[in-house]
This record gives sequence, structure tokens and C-alpha cells, in this order.
Amino acid sequence: MRVVRVVGYHQNLKLEEAPEPEITSPLDVIVKIGAAGVCRTDIHILEGQWEDKANVKLPYTIGHENAGWVHAKGDGVTNVEVGDKVILHPLVTCGLCRACRFGDDVHCENSTFPGINVDGGYAEYLKTGARSVIKLDPSLEPSDVAALADAGLTAYHAVAKAARKLRPGNFCVIIGAGGLGHIGIQVMKAISGATLVVIDRNEAALKLAKDLGADHVVLGKEDGSFVKEVMDLTGGKGAEAIIDFVAEGGSTSTGVKMIRRAGDYYIVGYGENINVPTIDIISTEINFIGNLVGSYNDLAELMILAAQGKVKLHTSIYKLEDFQKAIDDLSAGKVRGRAILVP
Ligand SMILES: [Zn+2]
Ligand SMILES: [Zn+2]
Repeated sequence: MRVVRVVGYHQNLKLEEAPEPEITSPLDVIVKIGAAGVCRTDIHILEGQWEDKANVKLPYTIGHENAGWVHAKGDGVTNVEVGDKVILHPLVTCGLCRACRFGDDVHCENSTFPGINVDGGYAEYLKTGARSVIKLDPSLEPSDVAALADAGLTAYHAVAKAARKLRPGNFCVIIGAGGLGHIGIQVMKAISGATLVVIDRNEAALKLAKDLGADHVVLGKEDGSFVKEVMDLTGGKGAEAIIDFVAEGGSTSTGVKMIRRAGDYYIVGYGENINVPTIDIISTEINFIGNLVGSYNDLAELMILAAQGKVKLHTSIYKLEDFQKAIDDLSAGKVRGRAILVP
């Protein structure tokens, strides 16, 4: 089969021939790839940023946002049939460790991550496990949803966590209406009665945010005037929840100024340090909450919202062999929505 592999760091990916994956354990599932999302993490992998973390032997096939059809399955697989249309939770988990037993797939102690530390989905076929496949509603196609397997899942995980505490009349501020943020906005409006304020530096992103249902949009001007705008909207008290999809370039240091007493600050993007006096944390009981990908159940719930038409992803489709163009377009900021490779 055709695969697109990392052959070395600081080098371009390469289209090669490789043997198809085979069933080697009773719970294995082999998926015929229908679509694979092209993610900024793929570029970071090529830059060598994951070399020490992933410890993967080169060459290997990347692509961690995958959907397609069940092609073959081990004897122990009872939850899907050959031919079923599926999206893949990005990790392959054991089901036996403490984290798995809590449904906390991301922290599984015996997991693999196809596309990061084993062969992924820039290919015709991919091996995963029975615990990772979610059947798609007949109305959804792999190319519509593949990128929701990582970007969408991460946004859903953080927003759903915040929504569990938010009450109607509470305020939620989303910082950043880009790739993850525009999914976060749709999820928040679908599952919460909180009033949603969206901040972005880009006018076009704010227009999209408004179209997607944001109650208020605020331009994130360099002068920081948006802090006062948010404080005015919230009667001078700040927001119960702030979800920071940026967390770099000063977004967190200004973001914390908009948080209400006992409010929660959800960090999804990364790059910046948090510099908050500890006396402010104890005297106001504010919380800082990290967010990493999401669980199987998070992804299953997100697929329900997608099937209901409440979460839509904008995609640009590329053929598998045009992987380099997809990567180049993403690097140059030329992709509208998410880039998808289709074998
Ligand atoms: Zn990704
Ligand atoms: Zn586990």
C-alpha cells in the first residue's frame, strides 16, 4: 500500500510502498483510511520537536486524525463489523489500567498513538484497536469528520468540562476563534446556556464566531482594551470560565484579568508561562485547568453533535499523493478550515 512517511527530521515526508498492516491480536482492527487530517503537530514532528518524546523508529507513517471503514478485525472484536464507517480515537488504549477504568483514555499507562509513536493514517490502511473505533452516523462521511479526531476532540474536551459547571446567565469567554476555537464555539452553544463572549485579533474570525452563535464578539486589540470590554459585559465581575485556545503571545497574562472570583481558566493552547501572584490565587480561589486531547466518550459525544448538524468543520481536501502541498499550504497559513488527505 501507499504510505507517507517521516524518513528523517528536518526533511520532507516521502511517499513510499509498505506492506499492509495485519491482525496480530484478537482486539486489532484494521481500518481502510477514508480521510486523514493534516495537523500542525505533523509539522512539529518534522521539525524534530517530538523526537525525544515519541521515541519512534524511522521511517514511520504519520497522521493521527483518522476516519474510514473497518477492513478487517481480530476474533475478539464485537463492537464493529467489516465495512462499518468509523472515526478513530487517536490513542490505542489497554482498557485494563486505572486510567482506562475511569474512562480517562488519554492517561492510559499502556497506550500507543498512531501517527506519533506507531504507524498512522497518511496511508491506505491503519491498525488500531477495538476500544478506539466509534461508528459514524450514516449521514457523516470520513472526510467530514476525520479532523475532529484530534482538533475537534481537544476543543470538545475543554468546552464540555467548562459546560458541566456553567449555568445559564454565567459568562464564558473563548480566546481564539481559529481551528480549535471555531469548534469550541459550536460545542459551547450546543450544550450550554452560558453567555458566550469570543475574543480574537482577526476580524474575519470574529465574523465567523458571530455566525456560529457567539453572543458577543470582542476584537483582541494590542492595547488590551478588550479586557475592559469584557469586564463591562460582565457587570465588572469577569467571566465564570475562560477557555484559552491561544495561550501564547500574552493571551494568558491578559486573559487572567477577565476571570471572576472562584472562576476557572482552561488552558488549551500553549507556549506562554502563567505569572500570577499566589496570593491572588488563594484570595480569589481561581483555578487553572490543563486540557489534553479528550476521552473516547468525548469523541463519541462530539460525533452525536456532528450528526445533529450542530458542529461543522470546514475542510480542504487533498489527494494522499499531494501531501506536500497540504503541508506547505498549512505552513503558509493558506488552508481554509482543516486540510484533509484522502487516499
Ligand atoms: Zn492533530
Ligand atoms: Zn490503559
